[in-house]
Amino acid sequence: MERKCLECNTIIYGRSDKKYCSDSCRNSRNNRLNSEVNKTIRKTNQKLRKNYSILLELRSEGINNIKKNDLLELGFYLNYFTHTQIDENKKACFYIYDLGYFKQNNMYFIIEKETSTKLL
Ligand SMILES: [Zn+2]
Repeated sequence: MERKCLECNTIIYGRSDKKYCSDSCRNSRNNRLNSEVNKTIRKTNQKLRKNYSILLELRSEGINNIKKNDLLELGFYLNYFTHTQIDENKKACFYIYDLGYFKQNNMYFIIEKETSTKLL
């Protein structure tokens, strides 16, 4: 079967597992894929960073709970977190790295992960 370069569609000769006609085609395709990946990750990281700095700022002001609307007004992205944890009361906690929150009666309570679980 005739194989074509994944980048430029030129017919490839040689090894059957060859995907590109040249190093330059392999490099340009990889660069394009990487830049797509980086773009997606950068956009998500910006939102995670924003969320994290909001939680950190609130805590540094001694604020440990906040209404949903106030949180949203600060620019918080509710759908962006790094992981979740179910606590002993079966309540879902949403974490952005080591800071997180859980919802109770329309209030969002900011929590910090136990020091013992932090990476040293
Ligand atoms: Zn090519």
